Amino acid sequence: MPENILIVEDEPSLQETLAYNLQKHGYTVDAVGDGKTALETARRRKPDLILLDIMLPQLDGVEVCKILRREGFQSPIIMLTARDDEIDRVVGLEIGADDYVTKPFSMRELIARVKAQLRRTETIREELGRLKTSAPNQDILIFGNLAINHTRRETTLDAIPLALKPQEYDLLLFFAEHKGQMLSREFILERVWGWDYIGDSRTVDVHVRWLRQKIEKDAANPTRIVTVRGGGYRFEG
Ligand code: CA
Repeated sequence: MPENILIVEDEPSLQETLAYNLQKHGYTVDAVGDGKTALETARRRKPDLILLDIMLPQLDGVEVCKILRREGFQSPIIMLTARDDEIDRVVGLEIGADDYVTKPFSMRELIARVKAQLRRTETIREELGRLKTSAPNQDILIFGNLAINHTRRETTLDAIPLALKPQEYDLLLFFAEHKGQMLSREFILERVWGWDYIGDSRTVDVHVRWLRQKIEKDAANPTRIVTVRGGGYRFEG
């Protein structure tokens, strides 16, 4: 089934150009020109991706994006920004957008971004389907001298409490729940940091490094969180 894209753009000629080019690339499109209709259409049609202009009548793109994310809308959202101060709003605030392009943009560039976002969603969907969360019923997960009490969000090493930052703890718990499975940086970023987070996979590397310093015997030669070449990480327990 072709992927469905919602275009939210109040300038008729640009809306038309976008629709034409996306259809030419095999996508089905809905095109609307204001924020309120955008919300209604997104809820009803559940598009695979939204192209969202910022300056819109009624409700601006930033608000639309925030509202949809709050409602749990998960498909990628690419913002169309016109000015530097708009870019600042998209990047600086955690509004839940996945990417942005600055007007004027070439159609080729836009299509490339659209494809990249859709591919990313597909990868994550596949990975979600493939991975079975070995989500434990018991309160405490034990890996040798490492224990994670996930109802109390406490971690101990050799029975001594570890001072983990919330993000480190979330990452460790995520690893623990997927022991033995290869986890890509992107997947980790998506699942641990969530859709609101605009960042890149180096965030994952940094946190893995911090975690290793806390839970590995030798952080330079990790045996618990191992790096999978060209892939991501695997928690060995
Ligand atoms: Ca506009």
